[in-house]
Amino acid sequence: MTALADRERAVAYLDARISRGDGADDCWTWTLKPDRDGYGVASFGGRQWRAHRLSYTVHVGDIPDGHDLDHVCETRLCVRPSHLPGERIAVGTDQEDHCDRSHPVRRPAP
Ligand SMILES: [Zn+2]
Repeated sequence: MTALADRERAVAYLDARISRGDGADDCWTWTLKPDRDGYGVASFGGRQWRAHRLSYTVHVGDIPDGHDLDHVCETRLCVRPSHLPGERIAVGTDQEDHCDRSHPVRRPAP
């Protein structure tokens, strides 16, 4: 995701598939069908991404291995980078259910 052309294509890809609220801090909501965990799914660059991870990668930068992004807005379909502020939680550890501030990461009912 370093080539500028790829980045521009990814931004266009994302922009065509999100709904931006009118407010200055509203969510950018992924408009395609979510996966079974409730996240947006993007097919870009020959691979499948969770939409919010693609958005973060494009707009902010690479996500370090073993880290995940938390939604401060608690809207899994949101791909707005400022709502994914790198409040990163390590995957597969005891902290999986807690963010860095130790509040529970809310998960939708099955
Ligand atoms: Zn949001």
